[in-house]
Amino acid sequence: MTPIIRETDAIVLDSHDHGESDLIITLYCRDNGRITAIAKGAKKSKRRFVNKLELFSFLQVTLRQRNSNSLALLQEAELHSGFIQLRQNFTKYTAASVIREFTLFAIRDGEEDERFYQLLLWSLHMLNKGEPHLQIVMLFLLRFYDYIGYRPELRHCFSCGISELSSSDFRFNTSTGSLICAKCVRAAGQSGIPLSPGTIKMLESCQHSSLERLHRIKVAESSLYEALNVLHRYGRHVLQRDIISWRMLRKTIRSEMTEWTNYR
Ligand SMILES: [Zn+2]
Repeated sequence: MTPIIRETDAIVLDSHDHGESDLIITLYCRDNGRITAIAKGAKKSKRRFVNKLELFSFLQVTLRQRNSNSLALLQEAELHSGFIQLRQNFTKYTAASVIREFTLFAIRDGEEDERFYQLLLWSLHMLNKGEPHLQIVMLFLLRFYDYIGYRPELRHCFSCGISELSSSDFRFNTSTGSLICAKCVRAAGQSGIPLSPGTIKMLESCQHSSLERLHRIKVAESSLYEALNVLHRYGRHVLQRDIISWRMLRKTIRSEMTEWTNYR
């Protein structure tokens, strides 16, 4: 049988030891989505993959598979970018780790989405460049839910359909992934996390903005925290688990307050 050879760009999401000399690598590829591959001899012969298989590295890879069900062999890897800043700065690393964890929990091997690949690459690039880390995490999550089929509905109350944001008090219901108005909360005994009209508008415009313009959107600090809280709690519902690195991200909030203000 002729082996399948693939050449594609990819981001390293995970890496662990396999035996004495090999590494098992999880990649998110431009053309093939998430793939697990074995890098033979990567631990012993450092020369072949030197500094290339670190977390978050952006590579061009050559993958070889006997058939579509077999474990891929990582034949070659060329470094496009090591995103070195992500590994040298605690705040950036933490934000990238949150993004990585959401990705690993939500996306399985074989699942591919070019939009998601672009979002992942954009997020790591923005963090590496020094864009405000909390804002990048917030923007990533907003798009991420969309691409995995859980787009937050932010236009109207899912129960009664009311959409006049200024005239109603809205909440976000994580079970439905939608807004619910205060009237329906009272009437139907539903619950939700309060969301101010300003934050709803900001999130909605971020949903519609192109990736190229996304980081230019000005987000007020109070809206950012409000949005992060909702998106994090929505993630708990969608993934049915906690995001371990979120605790570390929370630690960066206070220490970053001064730096955060300086970004504006
Ligand atoms: Zn309603």
